[in-house]
Amino acid sequence: MREFSFHRAASVADLPAGATIIAGGTNLLDLMKHEVMAPESLVDITRLDLDRVEAEGDGLRIGALVRNSDLAAHPTIRRDYAVLSRALLAGASGQLRNMATTGGNLMQRTRCPYFYDRRMACNKRDPGAGCAAMGGVTRNHAILGASDHCIATYPGDMAVALRALDAVVEIDGPSPRRVPLADFHQLPGDTPHIETALQPGDLITAVVLPAPVAGQHRYRKVRDRASYAFALVSVAAVIRLDGGTINHAALAFGGVAAKPWRDPDIERLLTGREPSDALFAEAADLLLRPARGQGENKFKIPLLRRSLIATLRDATGMEATA
Ligand code: SF4
Repeated sequence: MREFSFHRAASVADLPAGATIIAGGTNLLDLMKHEVMAPESLVDITRLDLDRVEAEGDGLRIGALVRNSDLAAHPTIRRDYAVLSRALLAGASGQLRNMATTGGNLMQRTRCPYFYDRRMACNKRDPGAGCAAMGGVTRNHAILGASDHCIATYPGDMAVALRALDAVVEIDGPSPRRVPLADFHQLPGDTPHIETALQPGDLITAVVLPAPVAGQHRYRKVRDRASYAFALVSVAAVIRLDGGTINHAALAFGGVAAKPWRDPDIERLLTGREPSDALFAEAADLLLRPARGQGENKFKIPLLRRSLIATLRDATGMEATA
């Protein structure tokens, strides 16, 4: 780790331009130890007044500094946005959830091992250097939305649930604005080093949830260990039935792309239909039509198919499958 200056910000206006922001530090410190990131200046924002969960219209505004543990345990989140509570509790470990913040969770970077190894070529770390993952160890890599320049995945759980909930990211900075989470994380294309919609000087101040959708909330995470492991694939689902017919289907997928993945076509397919194995198989076919394996990770294609079908069976009251 290299030397850096440290400053504790007292207000949003107190943030110096160009400084690297630290909150929980659960990913940034790893990146600094591996010298993937070597900031000259760190600004701690944990004293800012951004740690409240409060009503906003019919929805909820979650401050960027709300800790993952506190958010998962918040009574309104548990009651009205259960998919988010479940996704948070599926992530990391108790100790990490006590430190990790809502804003920082959105900013966590890929766990592609080549990204963390400075001896290996990586377009995300060094644009134009190449991608050592291609033809290498790809067990955790993307099957959807990848490019010839990068096949890394976004590793988080919280954002997958937020995507299913149509969350919006509130940003302060030179151009204060709100960005739908759908547009916040970027697919790699030919610029894999650009990971989010943030611009220099921007700070995430909150995540805003719309009015809750009553229905069945599920978060299914498949991983190599029962805890403290990133998703091989995950499915966040909010499903509402009305008289035996699906009248709301929101589905987001983790571990499969550089951003929480959502496909409006499968939601349209499911809406207005009665649950059945044939319908769920059709939805899986549609979801996986653009899927491409990269060597070792080809197993994710049938795994995602089974995970989607099992989640839909569970959420619609059919017998859950493994
Ligand atoms: Fe780097 Fe992306 Fe290739 Fe991993 S997959 S080595 S992050 S360019």
